[in-house]
Amino acid sequence: MRKLSYKETIELLKHNKNITLAILDINLPDSTQGEIVDLVTQKNIPSIVITGFENKELKESLLHKKIINYIYKDHDGINQLVNSIRLHLKSFRTNILLVDDSRTQLEATKHILKNMNFNVFTAKDGLEALRVLNSHIDFNLVITDYNMPCMDGLELVSKIREKYQKDKLGILVLSASDKPELSEIFIKIGANDFINKPYNPIEFQVRVNSNLEILYLFDRTRDLANEDFLTGLHNRRFFFESANAIFSKAQRDKKDICIAMFDIDKFKNINDTYGHDIGDIAIKEVAHILSSHLRESDLIARFGGEEFCVLLQDISKDDVIKLFTKIRKVFEDNIIQIDDLSISYTVSIGLCYGLEKTLEDMIKVADNGLYYCKNNGRNQIAFG
Ligand code: GH3
Ligand code: MG
Ligand code: MG
Repeated sequence: MRKLSYKETIELLKHNKNITLAILDINLPDSTQGEIVDLVTQKNIPSIVITGFENKELKESLLHKKIINYIYKDHDGINQLVNSIRLHLKSFRTNILLVDDSRTQLEATKHILKNMNFNVFTAKDGLEALRVLNSHIDFNLVITDYNMPCMDGLELVSKIREKYQKDKLGILVLSASDKPELSEIFIKIGANDFINKPYNPIEFQVRVNSNLEILYLFDRTRDLANEDFLTGLHNRRFFFESANAIFSKAQRDKKDICIAMFDIDKFKNINDTYGHDIGDIAIKEVAHILSSHLRESDLIARFGGEEFCVLLQDISKDDVIKLFTKIRKVFEDNIIQIDDLSISYTVSIGLCYGLEKTLEDMIKVADNGLYYCKNNGRNQIAFG
């Protein structure tokens, strides 16, 4: 990151082709009329512009420029700038479905969204939109017109809300209708936002960004509620939510699954000898070892303290034995080096393989296995 004047930017652009994002102060000592914006955007560099409230004409001129956002220099400006950078970094993975029967309107809005670096998909009416939504793509936002043949915006919004909730998929309605009650109806049936056409492109950008920001905040809150704060693994609550779904599917498909309960051996000794902070590092190491030896599809959770639970699918009993024998050995051989301290510990692993009546029964069986390990010398695996 470099802070540059207008002249220095000219020089930099001559030599440097790999600029991912520019943050432009519209008012520089050697460029007071926003010349910097033209200079940088002409090179197709995504740009966020910082401007003052008082600079009304300059701000108006931004309307026609290819910028991804503008931020006011006020007390919240820095937060908005951070959010805007975050949004931009996600924009390449943000999928927007644009629905409009007017080809010209569709192209104009698509152009703005493309300039903001989003992945844009289009549909010419509600029916086509539903088909696109049912494809394999995960959409973040639907932007729809109201008046359309086959299926209008109102029917589309209520159909979308039968399947997708407001905190997962945003809907922004653009309408040229002069019915005053329309925005209220749309919001009531599940749209997140409403803009009258013809719209001001800058306002449109601001609304798209703020709707996406709210969706990302929901995502983050969801992640925090499902996460174990110390290790970043799933927590017990999330484990049961997901594991119950996997267990029911396994029952329907009559497929065996595996539950493994992990517990660090003599963990109290680590806390007592080295202190709680080092104990925490030892717990994080379990998360690291488990994550690097298990598959993406395996569900790993910290149940509490130094106890972890893992659910595996599509694995034979022989492979379960091989896998957990290997992981037990990895712990046995592992030495955690912290400054001049060398810490090592072993784990006991209780297992349940097959399909019991309930998920809780499977966990109980794995727990019995763990109990057996603890009573028979620890540092081993056992089926309950
Ligand atoms: P065993 O081999 O029988 O499992 O012996 P143990 O010493 O590991 O016994 P136990 O499982 O009962 O001990 C768990 C200890 O973990 C007790 C508690 O103080 C400690 N503990 C629980 N949560 C945390 C944590 O978040 N951080 C740290 N550092 N310690 C924790
Ligand atoms: Mg223990
Ligand atoms: Mg324990």
